[in-house]
Amino acid sequence: MKSNQRDSRKSPRFAQPATFMRLPHQTDLTGVDVAILGVPFDSGTSYRSGARLGPREIRAQSSLIRLYSYFLKVSPFEALTVVDAGDVDAPPVGIEPAYAAIEAAVRRIADAGAMPLVAGGDHSISLPCLRAVAAVHGPLALVQFDAHIDTWGDYFGGKYFHGSPFRRAIEERLIDPRRYVQVGIRGPMYGEDEDFTYQRDLGVTTIDIGMVKRDGVDRTIARVREIAGTRPLYVTFDIDSVDPAFAPGTGTPEVGGLTSYEAQELVRGLAGLNMVGCDVVEVAPVFDGPGQITALLAANLMFELLCVRALRPS
Ligand code: MN
Ligand code: MN
Repeated sequence: MKSNQRDSRKSPRFAQPATFMRLPHQTDLTGVDVAILGVPFDSGTSYRSGARLGPREIRAQSSLIRLYSYFLKVSPFEALTVVDAGDVDAPPVGIEPAYAAIEAAVRRIADAGAMPLVAGGDHSISLPCLRAVAAVHGPLALVQFDAHIDTWGDYFGGKYFHGSPFRRAIEERLIDPRRYVQVGIRGPMYGEDEDFTYQRDLGVTTIDIGMVKRDGVDRTIARVREIAGTRPLYVTFDIDSVDPAFAPGTGTPEVGGLTSYEAQELVRGLAGLNMVGCDVVEVAPVFDGPGQITALLAANLMFELLCVRALRPS
């Protein structure tokens, strides 16, 4: 069984309830290679909320995307069976009950032998996703595209928010800090020691935005690939890694980021790695620009991630 989208020559792209790239909405995961999962949860935000509406808008914008990657020379829907598994009913109040629901939904996908491709939601949702994927695949390599490090500690006395998921993931041994690389880091910080001592001491690699712009995409990718290695890999793409000129629809924007094209090329550069799970997070449609450009970019990056999965060594 391969993927069975609506045929846009028989049903116009703008017709019918929106699923990701017009895939069937299907919760039976038998024989499925990739399950799209929406996580409409943003109670982990520290500034502007709104990412709970991300999955809906990403699905709406995805209806334009065609099926073949000219750049990677792959047709992911011929190589893989992909379904849209719908959303997690994550309770909007109480982060720990939401985490339990998210982890269970992602675990069901991973247990079925499929790869979860998750649409957030704020970045706090990556922690329960990592818990579920690491339970099946063991400690993971992690590639994080982000303006922010997200390895901060407690916040207002709470352990969980969108600035701490990867510190918690290290503490819970879900990821190997020496196989963890951050790309696109920038913006004013709390301070050199406050922000970086914890992760530097553990061997986390930071490729800040200046390095990306100076070295270019190809050299950046070469470094990322070396760090990720062959270990099962989780990729997390915070849309605020992209410049707000291209991706204004997000809760914690930082000026001076990636272009849309650099983002696409960086994700394409992961082809051939052993990716077992991924997410695109922090799309907040209420702040988006005309044309819903942020959600459109997020949908396209999810397509690129599908292509990366299709090219995974078996
Ligand atoms: Mn983040
Ligand atoms: Mn961020």
